[in-house]
Amino acid sequence: MVILDVPGSGPDPAAWLPVDKRCAVCFHVDDVHPSTSADAYEAGGDLGAGALGHVEWLLERHSRLHVTVATTPDWRETSPVPTRKVLARLPWLRDRVFLAPLLPPGTMRLDRHPDFVRYVAGLPRTELTLHGLHHVHRGLNVPAEFQNQTTAECLRMLEEGLSIFAAAGLPRPAGVIPPRYSTPPALLDAMAQAGFSYVASGRDIHTPVAASAVSGESGLRGVPLFRPSLLPQGLVHLPTNFQATSTVDRALQILDGGGLLSIKAHIIKDCLGYVALDGMDELYRNYLDTLFTLLHARYGESLWWTTMGAIADRVGGRGSAAGRQPSGAMSLPSVA
Ligand SMILES: [Zn+2]
Repeated sequence: MVILDVPGSGPDPAAWLPVDKRCAVCFHVDDVHPSTSADAYEAGGDLGAGALGHVEWLLERHSRLHVTVATTPDWRETSPVPTRKVLARLPWLRDRVFLAPLLPPGTMRLDRHPDFVRYVAGLPRTELTLHGLHHVHRGLNVPAEFQNQTTAECLRMLEEGLSIFAAAGLPRPAGVIPPRYSTPPALLDAMAQAGFSYVASGRDIHTPVAASAVSGESGLRGVPLFRPSLLPQGLVHLPTNFQATSTVDRALQILDGGGLLSIKAHIIKDCLGYVALDGMDELYRNYLDTLFTLLHARYGESLWWTTMGAIADRVGGRGSAAGRQPSGAMSLPSVA
């Protein structure tokens, strides 16, 4: 992965921040879709009475907090791990079939769930972003939807997702958080063609905090882990570096260093016995409540509470508001 422009690598290490801010925090919640507790698992469909109620509670208690909600337009996954165990043991064949049953197309399509759409669209300070199309793929890594498709296939999937958002009456999302952060080059090329401004991919919650640190776990590797960067496709890249199991010290080190604290959660805590460490439950909610209170006390107005789309607009990716203006993009040092 060649990074053309890396905000913060040149003379002004805080070039991606607004002038009056020294560091930033953004918080994203993945896998949101209309499944209710009457379905296989709840993923936002119970609205305020379910897991999204925890998000709403945090937004009410923290007036500066913004949330990026990664929403899947037509969720079809029933299990994140293979349930067809015999098939899963057969090399070659297992890569060509779905190893868990799929929901029929359209079951969870956003435009068929107007109460859900009304609720998420009504959450304050909340930006919706695209989280795949169906959240499912053939082979062992069921949720990693983008793996080996061509650019044309990725483009068709993205456009179908956008059309479902539009049919549901939702604003066009500015970015994509690919399921499992799986981001092959064909997806990046398709995103650029479709006019997106950002992708959130490099997820690494273990690499020690340092200005020069790059991601080495899920999704894109070798991208800056504690600040946004600009990919060769003109897309702004947003890393993820913090989750429920991360320490308060890690958050403070990131922010003390002038970085982006990028926190993730999954809306589904218990998916058929597969328990997500970062699932949005009361415990994680209370940890974030304490953390956010501490952050405001420590950094005050120097901390930029923001969303991925707002950061992309500052950096000036090709699909962002700044990037669309002839002279709007920030002048960032080139390290190609
Ligand atoms: Zn996901």
